[in-house]
This record gives sequence, C-alpha cells and structure tokens, in this order.
Amino acid sequence: MSLEDKLGLLTYKSDTQAHIHIVSPKPCIEICKDKPCTTACPADVYRWEGDKIIVSYENCIECGACRMVCPFDNIACHWPRGGFGVKYRFG
Ligand code: SF4
Ligand code: SF4
Repeated sequence: MSLEDKLGLLTYKSDTQAHIHIVSPKPCIEICKDKPCTTACPADVYRWEGDKIIVSYENCIECGACRMVCPFDNIACHWPRGGFGVKYRFG
C-alpha cells in the first residue's frame, strides 16, 4: 500500500484556525536553501508557489517532523483545537 493510499484512509475535521504558522518568511526566502519542510512532511503540507511558501495545515497528520527538520526553528505549531484535525481509524 502506498503512502497516498494510507493517507487516503484518514479522515479530517478541518478547523478554520490554522494550527501551523511560519514564524517569519525571511529565513524561508533568504537563507533556507534546501527547504526540508517540503520534503519531510508526509502529507505535503508545505509547498512553494512563486516566492512564497503555502501551508495547507488542513492536511496535517500531526507527526511533528516539520519542526524537527526546520534548520531555523521557523515553524510554530500546536495541536488543533479539540474535535478538529486528523482522525486515525486504527488508533
Ligand atoms: S524548513 Fe523552515 S526555514 Fe526552511 S523553508 Fe521550511 S519553514 Fe522555512
Ligand atoms: S506535523 Fe507532520 S504532517 Fe503536520 S505539517 Fe508537520 S510534518 Fe507535515
């Protein structure tokens, strides 16, 4: 089963409030060459469009990898509000 297939088994209840924020766009644009958040996130939450990073927080599976790989500690995230976010079917 592919990663996409596995992600397709999840259900989400999207919040209108984002639980992930880029602290400052400056490091992303000016000094972060490899942009590891775009490759480490299994749910494709981060992607570049033109000269800015788009954060599709609704797809987050709350694994925490992005914060661990960002070399500039530039990602702020907290748990989604109660009742929102990803729902795992098997625990
Ligand atoms: S890894 Fe951090 S600094 Fe680099 S692009 Fe992503 S959020 Fe920006
Ligand atoms: S917590 Fe995991 S799924 Fe959510 S944005 Fe970070 S890397 Fe992606």
